[in-house]
Amino acid sequence: MSGQPVQLTQRRCFIHQRREAAARCPECNRYFCRECVTEHDERVLCAGCIKRLQPRRRFDRRRLGSLVRGFQLTSGIVVLWLVFYYLGQLLLTLPSAFHEGTLWRDLW
Ligand SMILES: [Zn+2]
Ligand SMILES: [Zn+2]
Repeated sequence: MSGQPVQLTQRRCFIHQRREAAARCPECNRYFCRECVTEHDERVLCAGCIKRLQPRRRFDRRRLGSLVRGFQLTSGIVVLWLVFYYLGQLLLTLPSAFHEGTLWRDLW
């Protein structure tokens, strides 16, 4: 313990060695310039720490997205299947109805 507080301006950015430090990351205790820090949850963190703290959240979002996409795909297939099913039913019933209609007309 020297007792003398080190001024922020004497510190250099951990990534940009030539730039003066603007903030200190509370996670890794390194000094960073203004460009290298971002406010996150009311704390000023460096990009590396934000990345380290966020993967879980990002993973959840990606999983949710794939889930939604999977649901859309499934519902899309179901809708397509229903359309083709009813189209098939329609095609099966229509010709016979036509034939019956023409048959009746021919008989008359
Ligand atoms: Zn950090
Ligand atoms: Zn920097």
